[in-house]
This record gives sequence, C-alpha cells and structure tokens, in this order.
Amino acid sequence: MIDRLGRKIDYLRISVTDRCNLRCIYCMPEKGVKLVERSLLLREEEILRIVSVMAELGIRKIKLTGGEPLLYCRLPELIAEIKAISGIEKVTVTTNGILLKEQMEGLAEAGTDGINVSLDTLDRECFRRISRRDLLDKSLDGVREVLRYPGISLKINCVPLGAADQDVCAVARLARENPVHVRFIEMMPIGYGAEFPGMTEETLKNILEERFGRLVPYQGAPLGNGPCKYYEAEGFAGKIGFISAVSHKFCGECNRIRLTSQGYLKTCLQYTAGRDLREIIRNGCTDEELKDVIRAALNEKPDGHHFLEKAKNDDTEKLCMSQIGG
Ligand code: SAM
Ligand code: SF4
Repeated sequence: MIDRLGRKIDYLRISVTDRCNLRCIYCMPEKGVKLVERSLLLREEEILRIVSVMAELGIRKIKLTGGEPLLYCRLPELIAEIKAISGIEKVTVTTNGILLKEQMEGLAEAGTDGINVSLDTLDRECFRRISRRDLLDKSLDGVREVLRYPGISLKINCVPLGAADQDVCAVARLARENPVHVRFIEMMPIGYGAEFPGMTEETLKNILEERFGRLVPYQGAPLGNGPCKYYEAEGFAGKIGFISAVSHKFCGECNRIRLTSQGYLKTCLQYTAGRDLREIIRNGCTDEELKDVIRAALNEKPDGHHFLEKAKNDDTEKLCMSQIGG
C-alpha cells in the first residue's frame, strides 16, 4: 500500500490484548486499569480476516503486541494461522518476557520469526520500581529461553528513563555477550510516558561510548521492520540500536499502521486518525468494503507526529501505550 505521501506501508502492528501482567510506570496506571469488555475485543477470526485483507493490499510483516501478547491464550495458533496467509512474510512478537520460558516452544513451533523482549534494566530493584512487579528473574528466564532457538531473532528493547540505577550499560552488555541486538527506545510523550523526560540519544550514546568505545554505524542489510539505527561496537556479538522517534523524527519513512485490540485501525501513533474496523466487520461488510475503508484511512494518514509542538487540536491520542501496542 502506498499512502498519499508516497510512503510504502507494509507493516502492521496488532495489539491482541489490552491486558498486562506488569504495570510499567510510563505505560499503565498502578490501579484502576480500565480493561475493555471482552466482547469488544477483536475475535481471532476477525483478526485473521483483517490480516488476509491487509495482505491483499500489501502488508507483509506483522508484529503481535499488547498489553502483553503472551496473555492471549491462543497466541501460537494465531501466529500459525497468520503465517499461513498468502503474502505474509514475517510474524514477530513484542513481549515483556515474563511468560516466555513456558511459551517459547509453542511460539517456535508456530513459526514465529522473531521475539522482541522489553527489558529496561538488569537491576532487580529498578525493575520492580519501573514495572511495579518483582519479576526480573522471570523476564531474564524468558530471554535465556529464546537464546535456545538460534533460528529466531532476538532483540532487547530498553526505554531509558534517566535513572542512575537503570544502568543502561548493563543492558547494552547483553549484546556483547550474546547474539542479540539491544535497542534503546526514546520515551514518547504518549499516555503516562508524557510524565517522564527520558534520555536523549546523544546522552545515551556518550554514556555507552565512554564504557564500550566508539559505536560505528552499521552499514549491512536491514535488521528489522523499522527505523532503528544500528551501531557496531568492538567485541560485541550483537548490535546496539537507537529508535528515537522524538529527537530524530522518521515519519517521512513511516511504513506502519496499527490495529488496536478493539479493532481500531490507527494510522499514526500520536493521533486518533483511522477507522473502526470492528464496527464495519460486525455490521457485515464485504472484503471489498473493508479494503475501501482501509484505503480511506491510509489516505488520511497524518504526515507525522508533532510531539515537540503544543497540541493545536484535540485529535491527539488519549489512550495509553498498553492499549495501542507501542
Ligand atoms: N507488553 C509488551 C512489551 O512490554 O513489550 C508489548 C506492549 S508494550 C506497549 C510495547 C513497547 O512499548 C515496550 O517496549 C514498551 O517499553 C514501549 N513503550 C510503552 N510506553 C512507551 C512510551 N511512552 N514511549 C516509548 N516506548 C514505550
Ligand atoms: Fe505491560 Fe508492556 Fe506496558 Fe510494561 S510496557 S505495562 S509490559 S504493556
């Protein structure tokens, strides 16, 4: 699919659930999480229908996210079914890793192409403070489990908050000792994220270079679906990456759209622009009608985010990241 600005859209991120077993401070509130009534969440067959239609329109890569996607009880089955859809080339999962040890075998058998584990720190107390759960060991068990499957790519995603005990160098070291890429994701002012200043790419890069030596831009074949800038460091098995949506805006090359767990097709992270696909599907639309609505949404895909500007209107997203999928 090509949007009105000529951007090629071939990547769909699907939030399969709004439920989560952590409560990261920049993503969800501690208490009073308003969970969506189950009947309002997309059913498996509805997700599959949307993916089939999207594949006909040119979507090639799917990311399953959440909330926590491993809480979706038929995730391996869903992955296998999506992989069987003609045109779909890759299905990957973004998870906090807590349930990975138990579920990795099923995910591998289903044909999962890659796993991203969100891991902000290796410090137990800091992990507890950020995620509001004392579950660092479970997450690390999950990471170790994925490493037992060398055919499945593993990336670690870390959102630096600027706290000293988060120790970003310890997280980066995972890429020195293991064949994994560690990516630092800039905090975005969405939902609860707006309350945290985060850390700029430059600051972070300086800290890492001081510890590990020069980071040299990676020039090889693309390593994923998106805008991550990768670097190589002496003696590292994996790469270090930066995804800095705010300070190094990449909207001009945006290749993605999002589907919320309630079936809303979001065409930009910052704005509510998009279409309610659940409603038209439950009203009995044909595949051609569904395609028309998807094309119409694409036609209105915003040119980019304006995180650094004061909001001019009220079409900015009010959902928190666990409801969107990141
Ligand atoms: N629960 C899964 C996980 O944590 O990987 C999937 C959903 S989570 C919303 C997806 C990603 O969004 C995580 O890597 C998380 O750190 C990131 N995220 C959440 N809020 C964010 C924010 N305000 N800015 C940047 N990244 C954020
Ligand atoms: Fe849950 Fe992921 Fe949000 Fe953390 S970032 S609260 S793990 S959805």
